[in-house]
Amino acid sequence: MNMDEMTENLKKNLRALHQYTATPGEGTTRLPFTKEARAAANHIRSMMEEVGLEVREDEAGNIIGLLKGADPSLPALVVGSHFDTVNNGGDFDGLAGVMTGIEIARMLKRETLKRNFIVLGFCDEEGMRFGTGYFGSKSILGQVTQEELRHYKDKDDVSVYEAMKGYGLVPENLPRAAWDLKTIKAFVEMHIEQGPVLYQSGDELGLVECIVGIQRYIVTVRGRSDHAGTTPMDMRIDAVEAATRVISRIPDWAREKGEGTVATTGYIKVLPGGMNIVAEEVQFSVDVRSRNKASIDDIVAKIRDGLDESCKRNGATYTMDNKLTITPVNLSRDMLSRLEKFCKNRGYSYRRMISGAGHDALAIGQVLETVMVFVPSRDGRSHCPVEWTEYGDISKAVAVIYDLIMEMQ
Ligand SMILES: [Zn+2]
Repeated sequence: MNMDEMTENLKKNLRALHQYTATPGEGTTRLPFTKEARAAANHIRSMMEEVGLEVREDEAGNIIGLLKGADPSLPALVVGSHFDTVNNGGDFDGLAGVMTGIEIARMLKRETLKRNFIVLGFCDEEGMRFGTGYFGSKSILGQVTQEELRHYKDKDDVSVYEAMKGYGLVPENLPRAAWDLKTIKAFVEMHIEQGPVLYQSGDELGLVECIVGIQRYIVTVRGRSDHAGTTPMDMRIDAVEAATRVISRIPDWAREKGEGTVATTGYIKVLPGGMNIVAEEVQFSVDVRSRNKASIDDIVAKIRDGLDESCKRNGATYTMDNKLTITPVNLSRDMLSRLEKFCKNRGYSYRRMISGAGHDALAIGQVLETVMVFVPSRDGRSHCPVEWTEYGDISKAVAVIYDLIMEMQ
């Protein structure tokens, strides 16, 4: 294995794809079903063909590169990630995982493989354009409906359905993108960490044991607007008071759980929002994440109980609207211990960790044997133009995933 050559290939390919952005000079913006996405998809296709893969684009816009094994009836091994970005994002989020698959394929081409090996480029993971997420991965799992294609629209009121047509796809054919899951043995995703843990610890690789579950809510507390000077303290229905009694306790409820549980109120709106008016309404968001579903459920229950109590004190009312629920997923213990062995063999430092961000592996891992490998993000920065990962670090991930594929094939 020539690590220098691999690093050069990764650098060349990742840099080449930088050109496909809607915001030149301001990071990379490559939203799904746009002309930038089309150009990038075509370029990724040619990169896959160059290493000897049979390439096709599926009905969801995913790019699928196949290296046939001697016995194609055996379930295949799949390596991949996504090629879309957020607005003004970086060049490594997602794409580094697709390029990892291509480098592994380049080496596997020289071996005799028993099973099929597949490199996957998912077309829409971020959900940036339509406010969704995991479109490509959910499509191969058969989890996207025709109603959703028409329901979700971008800021210009273009539906997924219309955008797919403009991209050259036939939305009605989407069900054909679904895979027979019996044909897949395992899925491996290489991704930049997007957080500071590896960069600060100095570990070269992260072996991801678990992707956290998420629940998101919008809470609306309703009180009554009154004069801030003339309404005595025990005669007001102050929505801010009722809401903040709970908001201020949410961080500690997360800390008590430990195991990386986090809870965030990132949005608060007060109506009517005057300095001399008792607040009539407060809207705030809650985002709770943990590897342990029971911890999430418990924090959400505490928020409800807290709101019951604080609203009862002054006569306010509230509603709690669930926006997102994702179950945490434990990744393959078998593949993790194999990866651990390969890290040791190659002398790479590593740590087992959890992923606080969702990934294609979160969708796929619900139904298939799945594992993730993280590489360090400089200063932990991601989803911004300064996002940076050393090409040589990606090569180390390529090496241990290659070892894994060779052992499992
Ligand atoms: Zn990503």
